Amino acid sequence: MTDSFATARERMVQEQLLHRGITDPKVLKCMSEVPRHLFVDSAMHASAYGDHPLPIGGDQTISQPFIVAAMTQALQLQGTEKVLEIGTGSGYQAAILSRLCDKVYTVERINTLLANARKIFDRLHFYNILSRLDDGTLGWSEHAPYDAIIVTASGPEIPEPLVEQLADPGRMVIPVGGREVQELEYLTKIDGEIKVERLESVRFVSLIGEYGWHG
Ligand code: SAH
Repeated sequence: MTDSFATARERMVQEQLLHRGITDPKVLKCMSEVPRHLFVDSAMHASAYGDHPLPIGGDQTISQPFIVAAMTQALQLQGTEKVLEIGTGSGYQAAILSRLCDKVYTVERINTLLANARKIFDRLHFYNILSRLDDGTLGWSEHAPYDAIIVTASGPEIPEPLVEQLADPGRMVIPVGGREVQELEYLTKIDGEIKVERLESVRFVSLIGEYGWHG
């Protein structure tokens, strides 16, 4: 995609991703192509490629580019996967995933955010993203199992329905911890065995729902 922000995107990849361990060429390529500025308010277009999260309304944020890239890379997508995302927000993370897998199913609890994200998916012709308004801590059982699950808001623990809806083999990346600071966790399910590994400390907005924070 060529637009006036192509140079800003290239600089973001060079300065924020390459030096910090993002090495998957497919992840780097889609981060240099997907127009991140379209997922934020036009007043913030100029800062859309900065090394920080940005507000997207409803007290929510679009994650810093490095976090989006690191979570995506952790999923090691090959192109054939069915991926579930919890927390559509701006839609940017779903858009990145959609370039790297077969289908993205994304769930958001705030209607205005979801409506906005859907408009951008249509505008970009990203037709392999299906979205739904619901409490994502319950997953999206209709399309389960998912080869990979990514949760972009954090709760006190990994929601059980998500573990159940993960395929075997399958992998999940999810921030877990307190309200302010959390650990990014990487869960795998292989031959029925669940393993959880800690990746790094992160700060995410709250995952609110039945298997998350209650308000
Ligand atoms: N992936 C998003 C990040 C948005 S911030 C992006 O790329 O912009 C996290 C989002 O999770 C917020 O929009 C918030 O409303 C949503 N969220 C929080 N709890 C949720 C739940 N139980 N189900 C679905 N979405 C939830």
